[in-house]
Amino acid sequence: MKLEQLSVTDVNGVGDSKAEELRSMGILSVHDLLNYLPFRYDDHSLKDLSEVKHEERATVEGKVHSEPSLRYFPKKKSKLSVRVLVGRYLITAVFFNQHYVKNQLSIGQTVTLTGKWDVHKMTLTVNEVKFGIQPKDESIDPVYTVRGRLGVKQLRRFIKNAFLSYGNNLTDKVPESLREMYKLLPINQALYNMHFPQSYQHLKHARRRMVYEELLLFQLKMQMFRKINREQSEGKGLHFAKEKVESFIASLPFPLTSAQRRVTDEILKDLTSNYRMNRLLQGDVGSGKTVVAAIALYAAVEASTQGALMVPTEILAEQHFQSLESMLSSCGLSVALLTSSVKGKRRKDILSRLADGEIDVLIGTHALIQEEVVFKRLGLVITDEQHRFGVKQRRVLREKGENPDVLFMTATPIPRTLAISVFGDMDVSVIDEMPAGRKVIETYWAKHHMLDRVLGFVQKELDQGRQAYVICPLIEESDKLDVQNAIDVHAQLQHYFKQYKVGLMHGRLTSAEKEEVMREFATNACQLLVSTTVVEVGVNVPNATMMVIYDAERFGLSQLHQLRGRVGRGSEQSYCILISDAKSQDGKERMRIMTETSDGFVLSQKDLELRGPGDFFGNKQSGLPDFKVADVVHDYRVLEVARNDAARLVNGTELYYDASFEPLKSYLEDEGVFDPERLD
Ligand code: ADP
Ligand code: MG
Repeated sequence: MKLEQLSVTDVNGVGDSKAEELRSMGILSVHDLLNYLPFRYDDHSLKDLSEVKHEERATVEGKVHSEPSLRYFPKKKSKLSVRVLVGRYLITAVFFNQHYVKNQLSIGQTVTLTGKWDVHKMTLTVNEVKFGIQPKDESIDPVYTVRGRLGVKQLRRFIKNAFLSYGNNLTDKVPESLREMYKLLPINQALYNMHFPQSYQHLKHARRRMVYEELLLFQLKMQMFRKINREQSEGKGLHFAKEKVESFIASLPFPLTSAQRRVTDEILKDLTSNYRMNRLLQGDVGSGKTVVAAIALYAAVEASTQGALMVPTEILAEQHFQSLESMLSSCGLSVALLTSSVKGKRRKDILSRLADGEIDVLIGTHALIQEEVVFKRLGLVITDEQHRFGVKQRRVLREKGENPDVLFMTATPIPRTLAISVFGDMDVSVIDEMPAGRKVIETYWAKHHMLDRVLGFVQKELDQGRQAYVICPLIEESDKLDVQNAIDVHAQLQHYFKQYKVGLMHGRLTSAEKEEVMREFATNACQLLVSTTVVEVGVNVPNATMMVIYDAERFGLSQLHQLRGRVGRGSEQSYCILISDAKSQDGKERMRIMTETSDGFVLSQKDLELRGPGDFFGNKQSGLPDFKVADVVHDYRVLEVARNDAARLVNGTELYYDASFEPLKSYLEDEGVFDPERLD
């Protein structure tokens, strides 16, 4: 019997009530239990404080040197401090909300403390303490997430029992030939060592094997999707007269940059080919993606089909409509705008002309995917800022045509490592060059006490008829606090800049209210916009030349870059001022990098290195695969290897016919990889 089909209650010691507890953690089968991995390994071997870095967690041994002092705060909170001699350092150990520790501390006693080290304050914030002298072997403590009445010790016992009874029944998805090639452990040994590592060496080997498997499976899925996608959408090539497209390009007010030319060619080739285009177009803010979209739409219409462009907000839809209409209608194309504010007769009219094929290009918000919107012959769908649309919305739009080509555009530069892991099923085009003559946004880092000077600078820009954004302090804990902050700052600034109108934007406004605020700013009805980070992506207000970001160290580099990209869109010199009293090394580093580079790809790579992939998009709904063991930054080389292996397997025959690949193949079948409905 497969371990997936055996219930956890088949493991020694697991009764019904514990099974219930496990179920709430998503562990149903023996397979789930064996694969429920620690999320961290704590190193409890004793450290010399001189080797511990600032803000690092460490375990140290020392002797209590003073009477502990205990203070209470409201809501039963407490802080216990005690001086401890650790080697030659006299440090302060701090215990939050562990008042009961006080009675166990006496001067001269040996204690083992685990916690976070603050090298400046010489303070260890303790979360684990052991009394008396401890045995000194290499001790690795796997840490698991547990819930309810289930303890870690108990969980580990269950896992051990599961190994005893079923460890040998684990199926190895990685065939022996690959394991031999890379000297990887078989699955049962690797998994066992993930749970019960005897040494770091054992753990390292186990992890290497698990990472390879995870990345190989992921790459196989992605590449199989892509292959099937190509094979199944036959005979849909768009046929357009190349000369006409070229003369359209020649009619544009400026020559394409060589990067625009390259991605245009990639897209046109996809359109002509028989397979369905599934392409991601990346380009930094201002790199000129809209023109590329216009050319693709033109080609689609030239091939007697219709095109659609979907964007996340009404105001963006309006902006795109204006710029695309000015480019396309002069060439005889009919372009229409459909949003939820287009109502009544006008709406009816647009819908019927769309169904008749009179409208060539439709631009709009998610209003485009309502059922009543029917195209005569939809050939190309483009979405801008695609990560803001759900997979489902994208599919609905695509299904409005018979396998139309799809182009996703995004201004978030994604480092290659992430791009191949997240978008492994897509082709990727990159515009890595800015149009000539673009002025670099001057970026400065200012401390809070310089706020007056900063506001003076803002005043000067406003007095010259320009506009400015002020992004408000971000308070991680709660959206409510963010909003309150924005409201306060708005009041202060409105008071300071009496002769100007100061707008306010935050997450608690309805989308209609947000649109209204944005519209006021876009039309210069308000000159200064105070906003939380909700300020719309992609919005183009060329007259805005100043971006001020409070508490800038709270943002990641990619987010700072996105925010900065709101300015520098016109011909005037633009400025970005980062206000930050950053103390941490990492925060200072980010401020410095921002003032030194304006290349989105450089920034995104740095961001990834500094913060890791989880935080990369600034939220968790990034579409980033949730790897259990692998880390796409550190395991980059393995990712490349797995990717090549996957490509070889997908295009070769072993996977389909070789018996040793059977477990891998049936895994892919179970994942629905061969089922076309599961595309994207
Ligand atoms: P984004 O990639 O952020 O969507 P846009 O398409 O809005 O950028 O382009 C930004 C600005 O650059 C627009 O005003 C556009 O007209 C201009 N632009 C685009 N391509 C070129 C080019 N090749 N040469 C000069 N200006 C260009
Ligand atoms: Mg754009």
